[in-house]
Amino acid sequence: MTFIAKAREAAARGLDVISFGVGQPDAPTFPHIVEAGIRALEEGFTGYTETQGIPELRKAIADYLNERYGAGVSADEVIVTTGAKTALFVAMAAVLRPGDEVLIPEPSYPSYASTARILGARPVFVPLRWTGRGFELDVSAVEERLTERTKMIVLNNPHNPTGTVFNAQAVEELVELASRRGIAVLADEIYDNFVYEGRFRSVLESARWRDVVLYVNGHSKTFSMTGWRLGWLVADRRLIPLLRFIAENVYSCAPSISQRAGVAALRGPWEPVREMVEEFRQRRDIMVEELSKIPGVETYKPQGAFYVFPRLARLVEQLGMTVEELVEHMIYSRGVVMIPGSVFPDKAGALHVRLSYALRPERIREGMRRFREEVENLL
Ligand code: PLP
Repeated sequence: MTFIAKAREAAARGLDVISFGVGQPDAPTFPHIVEAGIRALEEGFTGYTETQGIPELRKAIADYLNERYGAGVSADEVIVTTGAKTALFVAMAAVLRPGDEVLIPEPSYPSYASTARILGARPVFVPLRWTGRGFELDVSAVEERLTERTKMIVLNNPHNPTGTVFNAQAVEELVELASRRGIAVLADEIYDNFVYEGRFRSVLESARWRDVVLYVNGHSKTFSMTGWRLGWLVADRRLIPLLRFIAENVYSCAPSISQRAGVAALRGPWEPVREMVEEFRQRRDIMVEELSKIPGVETYKPQGAFYVFPRLARLVEQLGMTVEELVEHMIYSRGVVMIPGSVFPDKAGALHVRLSYALRPERIREGMRRFREEVENLL
């Protein structure tokens, strides 16, 4: 938010701002989904719904997960939420008590640590390993940090902010470790459709997911529906009454109109999603190619989500600046907005920046050209 404010200030000074800070697809919601929302309004479907979500939507979510991952999810194991963020909150509130510890691979989407703190629990960070060609999850490093107070491990895959798709073995080992130790896994797979190559392994493919997994996904990214506030939480049916109790007292139900639109989204056609993902693959390739031309920037090809998290350690050393100073300089001199890695909890990625490529290819090229020229000026 601080950097968005700075970007606004730069725009007010007359700069043409190119923001690589965006966390949502740039396309409007696809027309057949919008039409279903309008139909719901016109039919007067505007009251409260069941807290858990309308049955057609829960069935559509279960069908999606079963077709994709062979998960065997039943519609009564699904809770519809007001965005994935609320699903995270409900899941954490059900499991965590004050003083409990939550293990979070770092860098991470900031809500995990913030929500843990709101609930009086303590985030414990495990850095992802920077290999020079990307990031890896070291399950033995996770294991080393477990204590008798650890009640939850967060696994966000594909990963924000690094774009990493964790390998199947690491995912399987983590679920295995959690079940052996009786620890919940909060699996946030909101970017599961943004996978460009390699195989994505969902936690729901593990035979024993019901023992430990609280699964979070949603409509926001896949269908470009961030403002509709529609997420989902899936867990073993024995947990559902507690999760529903929390949901009922926090938000009553997800927006009725969005739920109807959400059914249309999942029922398809899926062609617009496939086209969008293909477009993002091309944008990623442009972004990585342009980044690799900038001296001192170590980059890599992320396999998923729509972010890249290059390392600027060499560059900032050569410039005698911090990453924050460089980011600020780029905003005010060239109108190019990047997110410094230090905004993510625990500062594990402090020598990196997060760049989103959810913008048109010509804007990516133009933003990267300005970044390169400014770096060359400064060096
Ligand atoms: N989880 C991750 C990893 C995200 O990146 C985001 C949004 O940026 C969310 C959850 C929140 O999604 P929603 O808008 O559905 O609440």
